Amino acid sequence: MRIEENKELAPLTTLGVGGPARWFVEAGSESDVVAAVTWAREKNVPLFVLGGGSNLVVADRGFDGLVLHVRLCGVEKYEHADHIVYEVGAGEDWDAFVQRTVVDNSAGLECLAGIPGTIGGTPVQNVGAYGQEVASTIVNVRAYDLKTLAFVDLSPAECDFAYRRSRFNSKDRGRYVITRVDYRLNPGGAPTLRYADVQKEFSGRLDPSVKEVAEAVRRIRRSKGMLLVAGDPDCRSVGSFFKNPVVSAEQMHQIATKEGKEPPSFPTGPQGQQTGRAKIPAAWLIEHAGFAKGFAQGAAGISSRHTLALINRGGAKAAEILALANHITSAVETRFGIQLEREPVLLGFEEPC
Ligand SMILES: Cc1cc2nc3c(=O)[nH]c(=O)nc-3n(C[C@H](O)[C@H](O)[C@H](O)COP(=O)(O)OP(=O)(O)OC[C@H]3O[C@@H](n4cnc5c(N)ncnc54)[C@H](O)[C@@H]3O)c2cc1C
Repeated sequence: MRIEENKELAPLTTLGVGGPARWFVEAGSESDVVAAVTWAREKNVPLFVLGGGSNLVVADRGFDGLVLHVRLCGVEKYEHADHIVYEVGAGEDWDAFVQRTVVDNSAGLECLAGIPGTIGGTPVQNVGAYGQEVASTIVNVRAYDLKTLAFVDLSPAECDFAYRRSRFNSKDRGRYVITRVDYRLNPGGAPTLRYADVQKEFSGRLDPSVKEVAEAVRRIRRSKGMLLVAGDPDCRSVGSFFKNPVVSAEQMHQIATKEGKEPPSFPTGPQGQQTGRAKIPAAWLIEHAGFAKGFAQGAAGISSRHTLALINRGGAKAAEILALANHITSAVETRFGIQLEREPVLLGFEEPC
């Protein structure tokens, strides 16, 4: 185990802001994870687990603790009569893994193509896009429990998955180092075509392949600056900075009355079922609160192709990104009475993250 000191974190994140980690270590195996955790405990320093840094804002002063960079690799494939289970090391690149399942013509992750980050990051916020969430395919999460100092295998029910939520980013934030995630996919199954944006790509055709849907999702993401493309300033972000708020029928009515029109909305049930509450696009609220795509505030800004993506326009400080986020949050609250919830994790800031 090689501990580095004062390691710059900005280059290890997609937003590219923030200062160094006081200590930094890469873990390529479960025994490396145990050694790093033991080191941090003996030195009594806080520990932070880093994956691909695609959902992370690091404070300008950095992090005064040990950053454990998860690098565990390997993909094992187990074929059963009617499904395939892939057991994947937490440090594997998410998009490369999705691409592999697409090549296998396995349905279940095709709408999640093009999302940056690692395997280990996916259960943390129950990654989702275009009508799919990893909660629907994860069958097991293996992790090192910092409370009991033992490895555990958690079932999906034990992960408490919900919209952009799990036990890993709520009640048990910071408790687990995820080392492997197992996904159950459907070989030869039909792809998910739930979102209008994706359906539009096939002009009414109802039988696209898994590969065609993954390619369509990638095209859509690219057009919105939501695919990491070298040299594209719109993807120097954490993806969506805000979650889509879930509102009651009464709040929905109040917004419609105020704006003279209904906001777009989506059902909140797991498979698109109605629940009496609706999800409103945070982008719609932000635009109606006065922020347009391309809005700039110093070196921070809003992507020119997606209102939800706050970007580093070049040399931004973390403080500038958060100042813009706060500006947007208070404008939306003033206009609609809705408190937008942040999606990325904050590291090294004074407020709890
Ligand atoms: C251009 C762009 C588009 C995006 N689009 C989407 C999208 O469509 N849908 C979506 O849901 N997200 C999206 N994201 C956000 C992000 O890609 C995902 O949240 C991703 O899963 C984060 O994984 P990561 O490995 O980069 O995690 P990091 O950013 O490194 O970490 C995020 C959190 O997960 C924890 N974590 C990471 N790995 C582990 C581990 N092995 N064990 C324990 N905890 C861990 C960290 O401690 C931290 O709390 C997008 C981001 C970008 C930049």
